[in-house]
Amino acid sequence: MPENDLMQKIISLAKRRGFIFQSSEIYGGMANAWDYGPLGVELKNNIKRLWWDRFVHRRDDVVGIDAALIMNPKVWEASGHLKNFTDPLVDCKKCKNRFRADELEKKICPDCGGELTPARQFNLMFKTFVGPVEDSGATAYLRPETAQAMFVDFINVLQTSRKKLPFGIAQTGKAFRNEITPGNYIFRTREFEQMEIEYFINPKNWSKEFDKWLKEMQSWLSALGVKKDEIHLREIKGSELAHYSKRTVDIEYKFPFGQKELYGLAYRADFDLKNHAKASGQNFEYQDPETGEKFIPHVIEPTWGVDRSLLVTLLSAYTEEQAPTTKKGETETRIVLKIPKALAPIQVAVLPLSKKEELSKFARNIAETVRKEFITEYDETQSIGKRYRRQDEIGTPYCVTVDFESLEDGQVTVRDRDTMKQERIGISELVDYFEEKLD
Ligand code: ATP
Repeated sequence: MPENDLMQKIISLAKRRGFIFQSSEIYGGMANAWDYGPLGVELKNNIKRLWWDRFVHRRDDVVGIDAALIMNPKVWEASGHLKNFTDPLVDCKKCKNRFRADELEKKICPDCGGELTPARQFNLMFKTFVGPVEDSGATAYLRPETAQAMFVDFINVLQTSRKKLPFGIAQTGKAFRNEITPGNYIFRTREFEQMEIEYFINPKNWSKEFDKWLKEMQSWLSALGVKKDEIHLREIKGSELAHYSKRTVDIEYKFPFGQKELYGLAYRADFDLKNHAKASGQNFEYQDPETGEKFIPHVIEPTWGVDRSLLVTLLSAYTEEQAPTTKKGETETRIVLKIPKALAPIQVAVLPLSKKEELSKFARNIAETVRKEFITEYDETQSIGKRYRRQDEIGTPYCVTVDFESLEDGQVTVRDRDTMKQERIGISELVDYFEEKLD
């Protein structure tokens, strides 16, 4: 399939089935802003839940926080964002369009060929005012990353969680960047979500800890259904390295619009804690309880974009294959989202073969029982073929078909999304059956 086709197919499926809509569509839309619909929010929450489970609940060395989004502006001064969180901006003198200078291949306007202004640094932070007076004293910023709260709250978390180094603080949440050139669907937007960990270490262990996190990040990708050959690790060198970083590896994905950053792993050394110590007057020194050694903890930062995670989950899952129709020897194209079962927005669909009252009531009862344990959709509209097609397209791992025979023998047909194999299963065994399959 041509690569750009794939992107168009994903966008159209996501809209058609209720994963992602254009924001404010009835007013002509809001450029580069997207709303997650009923299935999109489920998929997104499942990704975040899986991440939290894997990196917070299942580990003894990471705890979470959920910090305020608008912080004291001094945070952004100390962190260097006010001065350095910029991209080089150029304007076209002819068509007035704006571009990021570092993304242009030639020094002319890519839209009209016009001459460009010299580059100037443009700060990506969104400014706002806190309180009723709009003066400079009330200026605040929407956070451009979730990371800083983990540094600012370091002492509180260390003291209350009683953790010892190495340990990490995790957070998920919205971040805002006034990107010069947003685009490529949900890949680059001005409002997005991150999942980040600041992992505090003794500096002498940085290289070992960095390697461990790089492995963790790669193995996380297989939980999203991403294959190894879709990924590329890029060592960031020289002037490309962010102002705070001593080593950064970008985990890139082969998107249909090019190989681009999916996640990042950075060794931030003691840049952040040292700066916050200096600016706030607080002592961020840590004393190793065993050796008595005193130092400011260093930091390894693995960072994941939620929206890019969702996009690669859809891209990796999208499959078109030939499947037999009801007519012997004939096939048709089947679109199926082979999303990992643990992430599927709907886990089980219950589909009665007829809308007749006696079958419909019986099937609804089955759906109610299954719903107590699994995310379940009940659907009795349209032909069974169309209903299977819809469930395949939204990635539902199992469809339960209820027919008139079910009323007699207490069995239903369970269809597997990937193999399309059908099995008769006793209604009383359904929950156990799915527990085993979906765990
Ligand atoms: P890029 O080089 O693509 O601008 P970045 O290096 O500035 O990204 P980080 O500051 O490392 O990004 O942010 C961490 C993660 O947050 C990224 O790896 C990405 O997954 C996500 N992310 C960053 N900017 C955006 C955005 N504008 N829209 C969606 N996700 C984003």
